[in-house]
Amino acid sequence: MVVQKQQLRVIAFGAHPDDCEYYFGGTAAKFVTQGHKVKFVSVTSGDAGHHQQTGPQLAERRRREAREAARRLGIAAYDVLPNPDGRLVASLELRETIIRLIRDWNADLVLTHRPNDYHPDHRATALAVQDAAYLVLVPSICPDTPVLRQVPVFLYFQDDFSRPYPFQPDVVVVVDDVWERKLLALDAHESQFYEWLPWADWGEEQPPRERVERLRWLEDKVRRVPTPAVLERLRERYGHERAAQAVHVEAFELCEYGRSLARDQLNQLFPF
Ligand SMILES: [Zn+2]
Repeated sequence: MVVQKQQLRVIAFGAHPDDCEYYFGGTAAKFVTQGHKVKFVSVTSGDAGHHQQTGPQLAERRRREAREAARRLGIAAYDVLPNPDGRLVASLELRETIIRLIRDWNADLVLTHRPNDYHPDHRATALAVQDAAYLVLVPSICPDTPVLRQVPVFLYFQDDFSRPYPFQPDVVVVVDDVWERKLLALDAHESQFYEWLPWADWGEEQPPRERVERLRWLEDKVRRVPTPAVLERLRERYGHERAAQAVHVEAFELCEYGRSLARDQLNQLFPF
């Protein structure tokens, strides 16, 4: 049995400012509402994520956007590391930075990308976080930072990649009740959702100028239809009726290098 602590300490690593919000923002808001402590880390500065701006000016803008997103979600901390965007490698130095961050946060839950992903920064982040999973317990590694006495639960964000194997939803969370908060956190990343992604991925479609219309436009862009595997898990967890009503769902896959938990134990860590 998992002994449910009064307050869980959760840390999520995304490669870029906006990744943690996009994949985990709703569940993070639910943890915060229940009094748990959530920290986001963007492993790069995001300074390549724009078609017109770059360098320190863009990095500063994205730091401000991340700070605003953290405020809107109510999370306790949001670090944006100064690693250059688009050039991240899973170096020993990065692994040790992540080990220290997980230990300093005294984390119970750690989340990140899966290691097979279209973006090299996502892959490097995933690899470095995975490589930290066991070493957070080893005193002679990063001896300047006290070790954890129990390996945290490590989970992956959901993605659509199918090789070498498709995402497996080990835990699913309906986030309809906090959806507006998540959407507002994404909305804080103006440089991404209203400038860069429309230019890079959305056929140069211009977002509406008016605020409410713009939020609904963003909602359309970021809405994610539950996959059959997620739906199946939803029915198991919430029953057919509630599962059929769920619109916005976040799902996570257990990483086998962290603490291993049976599904019902994992569900206890997400008591929503
Ligand atoms: Zn990213």
